[in-house]
Amino acid sequence: MSEPILRVEDLQTSFMTSAGEVQAVRGVSFTVHKGEILGIVGESGSGKSVTSMSVLRLLADTARIKSGKVEFEGTDLTKVSDRQMREIRGQKIAMVFQDPMSSLNPLIPVGKQVAEMIRVHHPDIKPDELKEKTLQLFKDVRIPEAEKRLKAYPHEFSGGMRQRVMIAMALANHPDLLIADEPTTALDVTIQHQILKQMRALQQEYGTSIIFITHDLGVVAELCDRVVVMYGGLVMEQANIYDLFENPLHPYTMGLLASVPGLNKDKNERLQSIPGSPPDMTRPPKGCPFASRCAYARSICAQECPPFVEVGSRSARCWLLQPDAPAEGNPLHEKLAKAKGGAG
Ligand code: SF4
Repeated sequence: MSEPILRVEDLQTSFMTSAGEVQAVRGVSFTVHKGEILGIVGESGSGKSVTSMSVLRLLADTARIKSGKVEFEGTDLTKVSDRQMREIRGQKIAMVFQDPMSSLNPLIPVGKQVAEMIRVHHPDIKPDELKEKTLQLFKDVRIPEAEKRLKAYPHEFSGGMRQRVMIAMALANHPDLLIADEPTTALDVTIQHQILKQMRALQQEYGTSIIFITHDLGVVAELCDRVVVMYGGLVMEQANIYDLFENPLHPYTMGLLASVPGLNKDKNERLQSIPGSPPDMTRPPKGCPFASRCAYARSICAQECPPFVEVGSRSARCWLLQPDAPAEGNPLHEKLAKAKGGAG
């Protein structure tokens, strides 16, 4: 595996609301390697977006990183000044969000907005070179009639084209890391597929590492190399894409997979949704956060949060995966044995 570019260690982020402190991220650790696409997946409220916003230090005024490290290329981003952080954002770490309309200025032609992104980090660039670079970015993200469309305004673009402009903007300074938070959720499936294909091609061309935040395991299957599954502000499972889809270890991951059409299912198998709802993060459960929805829960599950069990390069936290969990009547025993058999 290539060297790490980002190491998040025991990150804890909370924000204050009228209902009290929301413990959105409760000790999250993961690593992104150079040139890798890491998917962070989970339902709404799992803490995945707050995790990415903590990495970028783009949290609301009411939010606070309480502890932990975000080490990017050897620098702890929780410790750098706001000025340094602004320089890192846009130049070394870029982002793409779900709603391009809220990120684009409706009164300025899109070409000018992309060019400005380049100019801000290269103030001495000559106008001809700036135009050429902007045009090349439009071509890279496959905007048809690129030269003509540099002068168009955001409202003259479709949703998919606006998202391509956002990706062009994010890639303008060849960032080392791109964080994309549900960038294709609002788009129809065909456009979504085209954009994911494009992101994969650009990642290969530019060598950019990507964190892709999504609730959609179908998208993860199409794009990512490795996956972090989050629930209740915690990481529940981490694995490479093949292991996760072939042999999910955590009951929550199994539930997510059962609700995605077309993944590992025969035609007659029915889709299942996970009954129940995520925990209230103003009062997070002291045990496993998934206990109230888990078909396999035991009495210990509501009492204590399980530690991670590592199997080769993957890990998951569940009491039924612990080395001392009895094999008899244990629905995860075979899965664990299979994972151990395949672990190098
Ligand atoms: Fe289910 Fe218990 Fe495992 Fe949590 S620890 S996923 S509640 S079996």
